[in-house]
Amino acid sequence: MRLPQGCALHPRCPKVFSSCTDGRPPDLIPVDGRTVACLLHCPAPAQAGQP
Ligand code: SF4
Repeated sequence: MRLPQGCALHPRCPKVFSSCTDGRPPDLIPVDGRTVACLLHCPAPAQAGQP
């Protein structure tokens, strides 16, 4: 199976932003007692969809 470049969910994610097509999210990031794999939750502003 061939996955899209970047985040595998970016073709159907409603919150997609430019970095999502370039880089894969880190494996798991702790957020509110759960873990996620999403660039929106990365601490670096450039990866958080901020201009
Ligand atoms: S990294 Fe997060 S915001 Fe970006 S496409 Fe994947 S799930 Fe959506």
